[in-house]
Amino acid sequence: MGLIETWLVSEETGRPFHGCVRCRLPLLEIDRPWLVNKDYFRGECVLEYAVCQKCRGEVSAEIPEVTKAAVRQFLEAEIDWPARLAEHLGEGGEALRFSRCVSCLRPREDLDGFALSGLFDAEGHAVLGPLPLLLCRECYGRMTSLLCERSRGVWRRFLDENFEGPFDPDDLGIF
Ligand SMILES: [Zn+2]
Ligand SMILES: [Zn+2]
Repeated sequence: MGLIETWLVSEETGRPFHGCVRCRLPLLEIDRPWLVNKDYFRGECVLEYAVCQKCRGEVSAEIPEVTKAAVRQFLEAEIDWPARLAEHLGEGGEALRFSRCVSCLRPREDLDGFALSGLFDAEGHAVLGPLPLLLCRECYGRMTSLLCERSRGVWRRFLDENFEGPFDPDDLGIF
């Protein structure tokens, strides 16, 4: 397993994620890409899941366009994408992706918590582009502060329906 796959395995099983957290279908048997999200706090993985593109699209469809636009704008403004992509796709870039926050660049060792996000293609290969990325808890919090009430409700329901809580929905998750 490469470094990227190692970071994006399920902490619970120590293996790649098997099924979509929402539709429960085996990821390798459905012909769609999927996303892996993991949240760490004080050295522990507190939430992790894989979600297939179809489920992600269905949940995302419930989030108002204006909120999605605000999040997109945040990610564009707060991350120096040309610089990061040049580094991440260059030599040693894989390690760099997981070594610091993609936005504020603080090293992982100094972070209280962070979120990881990675994309896999339908065959289960990690797709290297803007993802995978590591976003620290502070930068992540600035992003989620942009979410409207309705989006928070969508996220809370997603947690309620697919996980055994309790979670603090304001602290966790990236979609
Ligand atoms: Zn699914
Ligand atoms: Zn940060």
